[in-house]
Amino acid sequence: EPLITIKDIGRKYVIGAETIHALKSVSLTINKGEFVALMGPSGSGKSTLMNILGCLDTPTKGDYILNGTNVSHMTDNELADVRNKEIGFVFQTFNLLPRNTALDNVALPLIYAGVNKVNRQERAKHALENVGLGNRIDHKPNELSGGQRQRVAVARALINDPSIILADEPTGNLDTKTSIEIMGLMEDIHAKGNTIILVTHEEDIAMHAHRIVRMRDGLVENDYPNPNIQRVQ
Ligand code: ADP
Ligand code: ADP
Repeated sequence: EPLITIKDIGRKYVIGAETIHALKSVSLTINKGEFVALMGPSGSGKSTLMNILGCLDTPTKGDYILNGTNVSHMTDNELADVRNKEIGFVFQTFNLLPRNTALDNVALPLIYAGVNKVNRQERAKHALENVGLGNRIDHKPNELSGGQRQRVAVARALINDPSIILADEPTGNLDTKTSIEIMGLMEDIHAKGNTIILVTHEEDIAMHAHRIVRMRDGLVENDYPNPNIQRVQ
């Protein structure tokens, strides 16, 4: 059974007399364990699609079935529950709480999940060790490099064991060397069985994914396996 099935979804925005069809008709199936790069020019609908996949928004037509549940018509509260359980987000700008330590930033999603403090700290420490930051747990974001901040964000995204990691331009604020390190980390996470959907406009970054989906004008223009990666499945 696929992890993600979207069937003929559309998303339109109505602004005054104008209607913008940000997504016209998009259908995709993504299986557990896939590593997908979503590409396409600015305005092609990538953010709109990611917002729907991440349950931050719902389509104005069509269906989105996530892990067996149709989430297309859920209320905001229901969507928030699905997000907390199923989705780990990684952003271009890291989105860490500046006054909190790395440990507390990573532990944050566990508060919403109702995990007690001792367990939260233990799990967050372990998650930071897994991204190579076991010696930085008490550092605040401004005491960390960009690459280290993104590692903290990746540890936070993984802490609840989500079904999907959604990464929106995760290397957009990083230099080339650090970007390659972060993509190496994403590959490690993928190798452990996680499902990753990554938005990027950089071909070099997309080449770390196993499948490339290209969008244009609210449609999927093409969708193909990364020819540079030997497929094991
Ligand atoms: P991308 O992420 O590929 O740059 P977007 O999904 O942000 O594309 O945008 C697709 C189209 O939808 C664009 O024409 C954009 O201006 C429009 N759009 C996106 N979000 C909104 C919104 N909240 N309200 C109105 N129009 C939007
Ligand atoms: P990105 O750079 O990731 O494509 P954008 O700058 O396009 O993001 O969009 C940033 C935010 O503004 C998003 O939440 C998007 O939905 C919204 N947005 C994008 N285009 C429009 C628009 N034309 N009108 C209103 N909101 C928009």
